[in-house]
Amino acid sequence: MAKRVSETKTEFLVSERARQKGTALLANVDFMGKAIKCAQGASEDLPIGCVIVKDGTIIGRGCNKKEELQDATLHAEMVAIQEASKKLGEWRLDGCKMYVTLEPCPMCMWAILNARIDELYFGAYDYNYGAAGSKLNLVPLLGSKIKITGGIKEKECEEILKNYFAGLRHGSRRLRAVEAK
Ligand code: ZN
Repeated sequence: MAKRVSETKTEFLVSERARQKGTALLANVDFMGKAIKCAQGASEDLPIGCVIVKDGTIIGRGCNKKEELQDATLHAEMVAIQEASKKLGEWRLDGCKMYVTLEPCPMCMWAILNARIDELYFGAYDYNYGAAGSKLNLVPLLGSKIKITGGIKEKECEEILKNYFAGLRHGSRRLRAVEAK
């Protein structure tokens, strides 16, 4: 039986929406890949990376620099927020999306909400300190309408941290062996 025009139109709209959703998902995975690259740039710090995107362009990048620059506030998200604000010439990051490899801690989450970032995507969940819902949820305190999605490239983001800690353990074992000599 021939379909009515309205049915065909509805089907088209549904498939168009699915296509847009698929494209958005691909873009999110791609930007998380860029955040992972940033994480790998951390030299002495816990490898966490972050990018901030506006209109499809990266306007801020950051990796954890706490140890490197001896500054407790320099988490990847804070570094990326500073860079993006400088680029835009203002503290309001309306219309921006943040991609970070680990769920933000309370300090960073508060900064993200204050900067009015629209969408937050993170990779690995942090059940100890995560302030985007895992350990605590700061969003209702500011009545923010931020959209949060966790678990993007989760395995890969977890892997970087696991490798880092395994390296540390290996390093300290080696140190103990050297000390024992
Ligand atoms: Zn943080």
